[in-house]
Amino acid sequence: MSIPLIDLKAQYRNLKPEIDAAMAEIVENTAFIGGPAVADFEREFAAFCEVPHAVGAASGTAALHLALCGAKLEPGDEVVTVTHTFIATAEVARLCGARIKLVDIHPQTYCMDPESLAAAIGPRTRVVIPVHLYGHPADMDALDAVARAHDLFVIEDAAQAHGARYKGTRVGGLAPVATFSFYPGKNLGAYGDAGGLTTQDPELAEHLTMLANHGRSQKYGHLFEGFNYRLDAIQAAVLRVKLRYLEQWNARRREIAARYDELLAGVEEVTRPYVSPDVEPVYHLYVVQVPDRDRVTAYLREHGVMAQLHYPVPLHLQPAYEHLGLKPGSLPVSERVAARCISLPIFPEMTEDQIQKVARTLKDALAKVAG
Ligand SMILES: *Cc1c(COP(=O)(O)O)cnc(C)c1O
Repeated sequence: MSIPLIDLKAQYRNLKPEIDAAMAEIVENTAFIGGPAVADFEREFAAFCEVPHAVGAASGTAALHLALCGAKLEPGDEVVTVTHTFIATAEVARLCGARIKLVDIHPQTYCMDPESLAAAIGPRTRVVIPVHLYGHPADMDALDAVARAHDLFVIEDAAQAHGARYKGTRVGGLAPVATFSFYPGKNLGAYGDAGGLTTQDPELAEHLTMLANHGRSQKYGHLFEGFNYRLDAIQAAVLRVKLRYLEQWNARRREIAARYDELLAGVEEVTRPYVSPDVEPVYHLYVVQVPDRDRVTAYLREHGVMAQLHYPVPLHLQPAYEHLGLKPGSLPVSERVAARCISLPIFPEMTEDQIQKVARTLKDALAKVAG
């Protein structure tokens, strides 16, 4: 039996009666758009993130687009994010008429390097989007200090970090606005596309809610043009069920990571995930660095360990960002990590046997194909 990166079938088996009932209720009431499931989920997710407001969205990408619209950019303004992330973080800048600037990551946390941010800031820079990559929060105090000095608007991309803490505060409460993805494979995942935002600011929450729903206000009709970026009611119902388990799932992810740490501790070629003393991570992924990454990955997959790569080519070296003119060597930390990283299977339902098999197979791979 091969070990998947994440086992959503095992999760569904455990939750089937609850999930099926929640979905059936929406179908029976034909309350597909808006309604109590969406409002209840928004309230419950805000409580989970320990912030006053959450707003549902159609996807993590839609949430990023909405958040960036809230920054009121002008053509030619610049948005800074990291090159080592999923493309969605960078993609939304152009939708708001802005230019994207890609910067490097810190070699241990894999999140935005405050020095690289400081060096990238120019007269038109307005927004910075740190990513809490792999479930490890970025160093928000250091990034905020740079952002404050240059009057930048900060958006957290928390798509991989639901429930993680930085100096005791949950992600989602570390900037004026944060965005989440509920893509099925995320720590909290829907049964299709879904996303959301959190904020402390009631006016911004109201504005984002309207923006996601054609600029519509209950009382006054369409106050401005917006989008159809609403959270779907069936997805909200699924998310409400799963949110009740998120705390225990994240705890189990930390346990699995601790087991991997023990099992891989003596293996010299493996760089294990770093955890800053300031954070409590949620291990969306357990990412190691190894030599001969492609051969090691092929060996793992041939031997039933379905490791994957997040992300094998940094954004600045993708065809989509050729126009930025960033050559190989320009963002060296990201390039080195991208060339050496492997994401090992991690999901709350993982058994001790599966954890041991992954660690053993990785050691075999390093002995046989690496070097
Ligand atoms: C998944 C992800 C997104 C995009 O979310 P979707 O729901 O797939 O649109 C954005 N940023 C990061 C870091 C992600 O991992």
